[in-house]
Amino acid sequence: MSDDAARLAAFLLDLYALTSTTASGEPNAATSPTGSAATSASLTASGSASASVTPPPHQPKIAKLLPPMAGLPPEQPASDFKGKRTAGIPVLMYHVIDSAPMGARYPDLYVKPGEFVRQLGWLADNGYHAVTLQQVYDFWHNGGDLPSKPVVLSFDDGNSQDFRIVAPLLNELGWPGVLNLIVGKHTPRLKPSYVRALIQAGWEIDSHTISHIEVRGLSAKQLAFEVGQSRTRLQQTYHLPINFFCYPSGRYDDAAIAAVKKAGYLGATTTDPGLAKPDEPYLMRRIRVSGGESLESFALLFTEER
Ligand SMILES: [Zn+2]
Repeated sequence: MSDDAARLAAFLLDLYALTSTTASGEPNAATSPTGSAATSASLTASGSASASVTPPPHQPKIAKLLPPMAGLPPEQPASDFKGKRTAGIPVLMYHVIDSAPMGARYPDLYVKPGEFVRQLGWLADNGYHAVTLQQVYDFWHNGGDLPSKPVVLSFDDGNSQDFRIVAPLLNELGWPGVLNLIVGKHTPRLKPSYVRALIQAGWEIDSHTISHIEVRGLSAKQLAFEVGQSRTRLQQTYHLPINFFCYPSGRYDDAAIAAVKKAGYLGATTTDPGLAKPDEPYLMRRIRVSGGESLESFALLFTEER
């Protein structure tokens, strides 16, 4: 890792320490009225959600702490992506940014905050700039612009850490996340006010079904519910187009793809490895980031996929 990336990683780690001082794993930690550092450095989960991070009073202004970054110009030129309109674009797949709890069934799905901030530092230092799937789609199909090295950071399911840990870090970089949200009630950890705060911070919200059921092999009625209804519910709740779908467990079949198209989505992401490409909008590939990966192997994810 270069000096710049190391400095950014150190800064983001400091920020993470600030935001997690009272984070108990419960969403309430971010909204407790104690006036703690964690509260003031977190996003505001309210109707008047603020996209900016307010530094605690005893800290220097956070912007001043940001090291000058060789790979992160302050303003991204609008149309400097050198790729062709047919270029593949990396979509990273994360699940939970946190330490895996003891006995976690799938510990690989947990990326520690320290690992995550070093990955962000590497991305920024290497000139990457996070964008949404909508921006990628618009670049491919509608003549839209992208920054020089686009990358999509997608977070599956809807975990409170997306609000407590990920969003404050991405905010410091001015980067959006993409949230693949399970709509049903069994994931109350990311309640609607938190989702609204993410939207205020520029995140894209995509559907990840209502019950997180594998959509391969479902009946037409079940597909209409999990694929179609999940979009409708998200649209009604957040007043957004909800243009992209994410297959739970990455599993799909022809009927599921047809249901995604019928429901009006512009595209869908899988867990098939590789770059997302414009000629397979309903089977966009992603690059899985597993917990415990070294920064060297993280960097290889990019060189190998290109
Ligand atoms: Zn999932």
